[in-house]
Amino acid sequence: RLPAPMPRIRSALDKLVSFRQSEPARSPEGRFFPLAANESPYEPAPAVVRAIHEAALGVNRYPDHTCADLISEISARFAVPEDTVAVGCGSVGVTQMLLEAVAEPGTEVLYAWRSFEAYPILTRLSGAARVEVPLKDGVHDLDAMAAAVTDRTRLIFVCNPNNPTGTVLHRSALETFLDRVPADCLVVLDEAYIEYVRDDEAADGLTLLPGRPNVVVLRTFSKAYGLAGLRIGFAVGHPAVADALRKACLPFSVNGLAQAAAIAALREREALRARVENTVAERERVHRTLTGQGWDVTPSSANFLWLGLGERTGDFAGHCASAGVALRSFAGEGVRVSVGSPADNDAFLAAAASFRPKRG
Ligand code: PMP
Repeated sequence: RLPAPMPRIRSALDKLVSFRQSEPARSPEGRFFPLAANESPYEPAPAVVRAIHEAALGVNRYPDHTCADLISEISARFAVPEDTVAVGCGSVGVTQMLLEAVAEPGTEVLYAWRSFEAYPILTRLSGAARVEVPLKDGVHDLDAMAAAVTDRTRLIFVCNPNNPTGTVLHRSALETFLDRVPADCLVVLDEAYIEYVRDDEAADGLTLLPGRPNVVVLRTFSKAYGLAGLRIGFAVGHPAVADALRKACLPFSVNGLAQAAAIAALREREALRARVENTVAERERVHRTLTGQGWDVTPSSANFLWLGLGERTGDFAGHCASAGVALRSFAGEGVRVSVGSPADNDAFLAAAASFRPKRG
């Protein structure tokens, strides 16, 4: 018998694996320390929970597709015009909208590597070619990136601070780079972790926007604002770009609970400040302790730390998993461990202290 005819799937999907979250680790006693996804360890502030409850009563209706109230709140909070803001289903949703707006087969999308894993996945889906420029000592090699731009380059991702290395670019270096990028090529400054930066010379993308219509800043409510489970992020850029993003947005993909929670979270400025300060203090404590244990740890401007462990990566990640500590491992390269609650961090530090590499 002939095989039944099957639907044709785009060849761009052949090499894609479906997105997988890290395996939940459990210690023999059933303990679990979630340090794999760079989430906030804090539950939402009471005012945010109240806003979600209120919005829950309206979920029989479609949400406001235009996110008008949230956009006006973002506009006021960040001092940017409303017509420069576009909201999406997580900043990965906005990333996909950006690619929908500018990328297609025959074009190129450029980014540093290693960086955020959504860039290659979503670029493949768009049909554009991926151009990956290796990091230099864990940092974006902006010279090499500028040199890799061709007349087919439509979009450049700059992840700042970079996931997973935690390194941050300085304003002057970024300005020089932006001046070298052709005006018809969009540069996305992905600032998912910007709230954790404590380096005075670091770039804040929003200050780079005036006079640069080809720059877009990407922000998320998933990290410092603690709303990862609600899926909401936004972009700020030239009105023409924001308009294109709105066209590329899946109808109603930003739900009403997320919109209400994001507005409430933006108003909880003191809670945000205190939580971010705690995380930064914990980051520095974990860094110091690891260094004291003899580990080589990259200084981080984000809510995670990078240990370039090379060949020891698999053993180390397995050892941490057996202690219930879930982290992200990149085979043969290293591990990224989120900064969690003090108890989570202590569990990780204890695991790191008791690690003994297997001898091959
Ligand atoms: N950008 C970067 C650099 C990230 O690390 C992440 C999350 N890991 C995101 C964007 C996506 O965040 P979200 O879709 O939850 O807004």
